[in-house]
Amino acid sequence: MDRTEKNLVQEQEGGKPLEPLEPLEPLEERSRLFSSFEWTDYKAQLRNRIRSRDLDRYFTLTESERIGIRETIRLNVGASPYYLSLSDPSDPNCPIRRMIVPREEEAYFSPEEAADPLHEEGLSPVKGLTHMYPDRVLLFSNHECSVYCRHCMRGRKVSDASERMETEDLEECFGYIRSHSEISDVVISGGDPLNLSDAKIDWILENLERIPHVKICRLGTRNPVTLPMRITSELCGVIESHNSDRLSIFCNTQFNHEKECTQEAKEAVLKLVKAGVSVGNQCVILKGINDEGEIMLRLHKKLLELRVRSYYMYDPELIPGSRGFRTPLYKGIEILEYMRGKLGGMGIPQFVTDLPGGGGKVTLGPNWYLGYHRPTRNHVFRSAVRGTVHLSPEPPESGYENFYPILEDSVWDSVRESAYSSEKGVSPRKKGEA
Ligand SMILES: *Cc1c(COP(=O)(O)O)cnc(C)c1O
Ligand code: SF4
Repeated sequence: MDRTEKNLVQEQEGGKPLEPLEPLEPLEERSRLFSSFEWTDYKAQLRNRIRSRDLDRYFTLTESERIGIRETIRLNVGASPYYLSLSDPSDPNCPIRRMIVPREEEAYFSPEEAADPLHEEGLSPVKGLTHMYPDRVLLFSNHECSVYCRHCMRGRKVSDASERMETEDLEECFGYIRSHSEISDVVISGGDPLNLSDAKIDWILENLERIPHVKICRLGTRNPVTLPMRITSELCGVIESHNSDRLSIFCNTQFNHEKECTQEAKEAVLKLVKAGVSVGNQCVILKGINDEGEIMLRLHKKLLELRVRSYYMYDPELIPGSRGFRTPLYKGIEILEYMRGKLGGMGIPQFVTDLPGGGGKVTLGPNWYLGYHRPTRNHVFRSAVRGTVHLSPEPPESGYENFYPILEDSVWDSVRESAYSSEKGVSPRKKGEA
């Protein structure tokens, strides 16, 4: 293939011609679309992507959605027929539908919102690169994706053709990375790097592999979720050829709901794993979509079946038009509190919030630690599995006694009788016990 070959999406930009056919019910429209091309051909999937103007053929739209489609201040509408097929044409609260179809809330720019709350542009030494942490950079490889997620935090650039990254722009990024030997980890994101052609991906990975201090490269892609047929053997061959002794390639994807965990997605992940790529998940907490412990638990259980390790669970960001998706900060803590103990640790993400103004990510979690009882030198914990109280002694003369939050005597008095310790353990779990 030719190195200068343009991005996959250019082939789609013509789109399919609007057929002058009789309007049908959404379900019939869908079967007509789904049978009109080769389903497993990802290029055909991209050529047949759904745009704004198609939405009322495939959904029975609500008034709020009609307003959202007309007046959104967020990114363009776009969805692969595959992802569309996971959505419900008649239920406006279907989680997949909410990630595809704008609602009225998207039309409002709230005062607390900002186009670039994380200050990615301010921390950008050359176009397309964000250097926030000393050892890592974020590389914006392209502006296209298979689905334009309504909640996308990079909506200011994604889907916008004026944000196109030319080959020269990418070369400048490589130049910057080459001249900064402290950079060992390159996160390629967009947009979606797997919406570039195999040849372009090959070229990017080859460039990174040639920089001696770059040891790790992560592909941030939603294609396993939104267009699993994109994970072809050819693409995996390209990735594997650079997943070498010099460069370790990881993939981070974004499943947000168990409805996305399909057989096709499972096969796509397995292909990546067979190419030596460890696949992680970074979900976003989204109001009305997955902002409940049980929904997140089911998602993360499914992800382990798909061989996807949990990485992050993001607090939603203050991006324009995002008020319909944002949840209170405490939601993330509540969700983790619910999940802990019900699922193996490999399936439990870290809850992170990216600090506005370019402070980077910080993790937050439930507080299982009640405090230090100084007179008896006991740490007092709450069990995530049983809710019981447990004591664990501090080593004698540790020198760290002043570092712990002090447990009030009144709390100590109320728990000391019932507390468990190395001398007194809980009884075995009974059958059927939650
Ligand atoms: C999230 C992010 C990274 C990667 O951070 P990790 O915590 O290592 O996943 C790097 N650069 C920027 C600008 C980021 O926002
Ligand atoms: S795939 Fe990622 S970058 Fe693309 S629209 Fe969705 S969240 Fe944004």
